[in-house]
This record gives sequence, C-alpha cells and structure tokens, in this order.
Amino acid sequence: MLQSLQLVQPTTVHEASQALADYGEKARIYAGGAELLLLLRNGMLQSEVLVDVKKIERLHRVALADGVLRVGACVTHHALASSELVREHAPALAYAESQVANIRVRNQGTLGGNLAFNDPHSDPGTVLLIHNASVLVGNDKDERRMALDDFFVDMYATALGPGDLLLEIEIPALPAGMTSAYQRLHRYQRPTLGVAVGARMSNEAVEDIRLAVGCVGPKALRLTELETKIIGTKPGDAKQIVAEAKEYLRDVLLPVDDLLGSEAYKLYMTGVMLGDTLEQTVQNGNI
Ligand SMILES: Cc1cc2nc3c(=O)[nH]c(=O)nc-3n(C[C@H](O)[C@H](O)[C@H](O)COP(=O)(O)OP(=O)(O)OC[C@H]3O[C@@H](n4cnc5c(N)ncnc54)[C@H](O)[C@@H]3O)c2cc1C
Repeated sequence: MLQSLQLVQPTTVHEASQALADYGEKARIYAGGAELLLLLRNGMLQSEVLVDVKKIERLHRVALADGVLRVGACVTHHALASSELVREHAPALAYAESQVANIRVRNQGTLGGNLAFNDPHSDPGTVLLIHNASVLVGNDKDERRMALDDFFVDMYATALGPGDLLLEIEIPALPAGMTSAYQRLHRYQRPTLGVAVGARMSNEAVEDIRLAVGCVGPKALRLTELETKIIGTKPGDAKQIVAEAKEYLRDVLLPVDDLLGSEAYKLYMTGVMLGDTLEQTVQNGNI
C-alpha cells in the first residue's frame, strides 16, 4: 500500500527547489512516477512530500535551435518516440524511446526521470552519448550545464545535488554525413544490453565513429579508445577490431552479473552486437 503523501505542485524551478530545501529529506521530486511510486509502494524508499515538477511549463518543451535539440526533462518517452522533430534530428533516439518497456511506461515515464534515476538497464542514455548530449541542471540559485557523461556518476547515482532539478537535455546533431543506429537485447521489458553506433564513411573506410554501450555495467559509456582504433579502417577490419576488444570492453564496461544476464553473456553479446550494429550502420545508413 502506498502511504498518504503530501503533493506540492510548483510552477517554477525556483519554487520547486525552495520546496526541496524546505522539506529536506522528507521530499522527493516526482515526474511521471513510473519509478518513484513503485519504490514507495514496495517500501524501498520513504517520502512524505512529493514535489511534482510537471506543472513547470519549461520542462515540457521540445525545440530545435542552431542544430541542438532541447528536450525538457518532463517530456515523456512516448512523446519523443512519436515526434517528427526527434525522428529527423536523432532517429536512433526516437527508436530507442519507442523500445522503452511498454506503452503504459512510455506514456507515464519522462526522459528526465529516466536519466535522473540512472538505472543501468535503460535505453535513452546510451544513444544520447553518441550525440555528445549535455544536461542543464538548476536550482533556486543558478543553472549549470554538464556533459551527460559527467552527469552519470554511477549506478543509480548522478551529479544532481540537494535542491537540484534536471531541467533540459541538449542533443546536438550528429556530424554531417554520420548515420546512426541503436539496438537492444532484451528478454524482459528492461534491456539486457543496449548498443548505439554513429558512423561516417569516406572512400569505403570509417572516417568517423561513435560507439556507446549501456546496461552491461554500472553506467552507459562511450568507447573512445575503440573508436580511435577503428577510424581509418575498412568495415570488415573494424568488425574484427571489435571482436578482438574483449579485454578492453571488460576493463571499461565493468560488467556485472544481475537478473538480466550474466557478466560473461553480456560481455560476449556486447562484442557481437557492436560488430553487427556497426556493419549495418555503414551499409544501410540509419537503421
Ligand atoms: C515496468 C518498467 C519497465 C521499464 N522498462 C524500461 C526500459 O525498457 N527502458 C528504459 O530506458 N527504462 C525503462 N523503465 C524506466 C522508465 O523509463 C523510468 O521509470 C521512467 O522514465 C522514469 O521517469 P518518471 O518521470 O516516471 O520518473 P519518476 O518515477 O517520477 O522519478 C524517477 C526518479 O527521478 C527523479 N526525478 C524525476 N524527474 C526529475 C527531474 N526533472 N530532476 C531531478 N530528479 C528527477 C525522482 O525524484 C526519482 O528519484 C522501466 C520502468 C518500469 C516501471
């Protein structure tokens, strides 16, 4: 049973941050509630006050300016999956959003809630990393921008401090000519593995590449050393380099055994899916 809770509905970031300061440990930020209400209902989290951030209008905006897509933290997965703007600007993200859980969770859950919770078994963060996305974080005093990579600190841990709200996700376009893809492996609703690839070809060689992997270890990560090794190679050689990168993948991704797959399985499938997704991206463009 869910205990009775006080609901506070601020309409500005300042008010929300003030409410968090006033109620302190008793308060939690509440967006879609997909995650939060489950935790409260199951007694895994205690709270007396929910600070509902959905009345803050700027957290619902989706806008493209100067090649950067700005997505308010309270935009739902379903809205992103079905947005023409998102499909045009970041097709792999639109696809990843369409794969989140089921229509109920996609309608209820927000991108901001997903990133702020930082469950390792998530989809959108992995794709956002190949876009070099940043986030805008704010409180009643100021706002600050940080790379998503820095925002993701560890499993269920982010760079959000007390009184901070995640306000906006900033998604730059991929470099001109770069195509992208996201593929996930799942047995249940949450992904066991997510792989995002951005690739640009020139004279049949990989001119530029971005690789990100999620769900394997504590947080989604870019594979920058592997990217450097692949640049300048032919697709077949690139696939071979990925296949031989098992040690590197283990060292960087820090795979863990969990209910969604063993460490060995996740590591093995990372190599397979990275190679396949890379091959398909260079052959077929956006997939
Ligand atoms: C059954 C199920 C299946 C799922 N499957 C998938 C899946 O396949 N792929 C996937 O990626 N995800 C999956 N999820 C996770 C889902 O995407 C998230 O639960 C959802 O996006 C969270 O958003 P929310 O708005 O509901 O957050 P809430 O539940 O409201 O909040 C989640 C956490 O984030 C904090 N928070 C929320 N908004 C902000 C903000 N603006 N600033 C700071 N902190 C904030 C809250 O305080 C809370 O700690 C699944 C969840 C469920 C319940």
